[in-house]
Amino acid sequence: MPPTKALNEAVALIRASQRIAIAAHVSPDVDAIGSTLGLGLALQSLGKQVLLLSEDGVPENLRFLPGAGLLRDALPPDFVPDLFIGLDSSDPDRLGDIVRPLLDGRIPVLNVDHHITNLNFGAINVVMPECAATAEVIVVLLDALGVPLGEDVAGCLMAGLVGDTRGFSVASVTPATFEVAARLLAAGADLAAISEAVLNRRSVGILRFWGVALSNLHLEDGLLWATVSLEERRRLDLMEIQKPELTNVLISAEEAEVAVLFTEKPDGLVDVSFRAKPGHDVAGVALALGGGGHPLAAGCEIEGPLDSAVRRVIGLLRERIALPAGGDGER
Ligand code: 5GP
Ligand code: MN
Repeated sequence: MPPTKALNEAVALIRASQRIAIAAHVSPDVDAIGSTLGLGLALQSLGKQVLLLSEDGVPENLRFLPGAGLLRDALPPDFVPDLFIGLDSSDPDRLGDIVRPLLDGRIPVLNVDHHITNLNFGAINVVMPECAATAEVIVVLLDALGVPLGEDVAGCLMAGLVGDTRGFSVASVTPATFEVAARLLAAGADLAAISEAVLNRRSVGILRFWGVALSNLHLEDGLLWATVSLEERRRLDLMEIQKPELTNVLISAEEAEVAVLFTEKPDGLVDVSFRAKPGHDVAGVALALGGGGHPLAAGCEIEGPLDSAVRRVIGLLRERIALPAGGDGER
């Protein structure tokens, strides 16, 4: 059920606003970029001025999306927004440094998300954990606004759906997800081309990153983890890789109940990406570490260095996740 009151308030706020800044989370994934572009283009079609922000740019395989060229990585001085919309981010910090000046209370913040761990940081919060992607929440919002779905908007939102559901193959997909997908298809989204770009394309740099991580694999009692140190990233020219999307591969291991990828960063923090087999919940662990996510896919950033981050996270997982103690992880 959509949160009707919040949805009505969101509609009224958008109608009353003229210059709207939109940003999703840092280290953007497909849902972050697709949702920003889909909502941005739809609001443009309503005659709004929009500023679309992505502090960390656009991953190469998503540059084909309509409107990708509109994304800015800094606030231009000549755009003074009267509304900020945060997308796909369960906490305000994850929206990045460049939008911080927009969160100081001077303009209203609309928080649109599908993470169960969302902190409801907006003046208005349209948070729908029952949706498989923020792109799906945006269709609910656009319906409430009465904006028809054009081909470009449909393509961007379809990309978000395909990304977060890995091609409509995960437990978060509901009949409503397929109904939204059917409408996006009918509006002209090219599902095959989008799926190919989103699911099957990656840079050689990402493959090299996988190579390093896969040569640093550890398996203990159903916990499988891989690490990539700052030194390795520097040596192999892998500093630019932000979304290696390797944790989905790690959790494919038969022996893994939970898989974790640790990536050491130059700011002293370690990016931690969790995946779990159905029946477990890593969102709670990520939330306890200051991050968030979904039961089967979550993440956080914690203090380094790498070794101590690994010890802390593995220790917490051992406390919180039911593991085949002392076994080899077979279920
Ligand atoms: P991924 O492993 O693909 O980076 O992220 C998996 C899920 O966890 C996504 O839903 C993502 O938004 C969430 N997530 C990843 N890192 C963080 C983080 O640092 N903070 C929060 N709040 N959520 C995160
Ligand atoms: Mn998402």
